[in-house]
Amino acid sequence: MADALAADRFDHASNLSRTGTYREYRSAFWPPSAGYELSCLDLGPAGPGLGGEFLAGLAALKSAIEAEWQRVKEIGVPARRRFNDPAPVAKALREIGGRLPGEQDRRAAALRADAVEGGYSDEILAELAGLKEEYTLVAGQVSTWYGKEVKGLPTAFACRRDGVRQAFVDAASGMREETGDYLRSLHPDLKLGDVPAFGAAELFFMAGEGNLHPKHIAYFLPEDEGVKYSPFKKTYYFANTHEALLRSASAPLSEEFLRVGDGFDPAAERFAAVPVLGVLGHEFGHFVHRPSTDFKELNAADRWVSVTLQEVAADVFGTLILAEVWAERFGFTAADVISYYLAECLRYTSRGLGHFPDSDGMYLQLSYFRQFSALAFENGGSGPVLTGDPEVVLAGLRSLARVLADALLAGGSDQARKLYRAFGPATPAPLASLVEELRRRPLKSVEYTQEHLYSRADQGQG
Ligand SMILES: [Zn+2]
Repeated sequence: MADALAADRFDHASNLSRTGTYREYRSAFWPPSAGYELSCLDLGPAGPGLGGEFLAGLAALKSAIEAEWQRVKEIGVPARRRFNDPAPVAKALREIGGRLPGEQDRRAAALRADAVEGGYSDEILAELAGLKEEYTLVAGQVSTWYGKEVKGLPTAFACRRDGVRQAFVDAASGMREETGDYLRSLHPDLKLGDVPAFGAAELFFMAGEGNLHPKHIAYFLPEDEGVKYSPFKKTYYFANTHEALLRSASAPLSEEFLRVGDGFDPAAERFAAVPVLGVLGHEFGHFVHRPSTDFKELNAADRWVSVTLQEVAADVFGTLILAEVWAERFGFTAADVISYYLAECLRYTSRGLGHFPDSDGMYLQLSYFRQFSALAFENGGSGPVLTGDPEVVLAGLRSLARVLADALLAGGSDQARKLYRAFGPATPAPLASLVEELRRRPLKSVEYTQEHLYSRADQGQG
């Protein structure tokens, strides 16, 4: 497609104008770009070793989901959240689910198979919320990238609880009171709402839209399945996917473009808990609000700006909670948090502008630090390097948190739109030299290797 080859993933205005035009787009790669660089992540090692029949069931589910994905591209989604041909998907879910060792896991899979056939009912959602799963199997019309397609597309995944990371999540989630006190110290009006359950897991199966590029590191259920306003919510976070992205994209970008503190090394012991708590912090950040917080007016005025700034708020409050409330307890420092956070800012920004609200949001944060001199550009020999002091970046985050509390979380829309105009990607000058370098590099993504689904001969029980 000549169009795709000519596409500049950093052309903010042009990319934004194409939002909603990808309904019939079939490439495994999005956004359109002249080139991509892949790293492979083998999902086999995270697999449960439940035997050849279990894996054969997953392979059948993969085929059923991919056939449904093709049908959706040809004839569309028949009714909201439903499959054109739900029977093969539901059958595969029941067969695989029946082989799970835990009773609660089998029940959850059976309920999800019922939902594939008949849709979610309040009863199904309520019962699912009460089950504690070791293995989770999901199939549905699941949300993809907001700039690509706002409706869900056929996706199925399976993941296994990650006990070590779950313990970090549970310990941090238990520090609610300290977190609330900290938020009030930033701005007396700030409160923390009810944060959905957060399950740390390792992914061992992915099919359909979710298996295309780029990859999601988390899904929010049932919201990502099109069920809005459910009182029962759970985030499923894929630690192995996130780790692969950190290793192949964030760390090399940090190495090349950042001189702040000691740098980011995802393999170092001191960073073991940082990524999962970074994503948990982002989730907490989404629930930081004021009594007057209401995005209705901003949504109506400019939905993209609204979604982008909500992602910015989640990043900023989340990073501050991670650095100033949680870090000490888990044995890492605020400077480590800033190293991780800035590396992630570079990864998100490198995906392009005008395609992903969270990428535009991370661009905005870097631009804010740059414009207030918390970060400066130096010539690193082969190109620009962002330099700064972790303490000063942290002060910049506190400053931006207070700005967000007044410009975004107070309701209204004028101040929020001003903030987006001043620091967002529509104002390119502050980060132009960085974007120029990123544009020359291919978009990085992770390919899931799933040969374990087909090599059944050597897969015994246990
Ligand atoms: Zn978010």
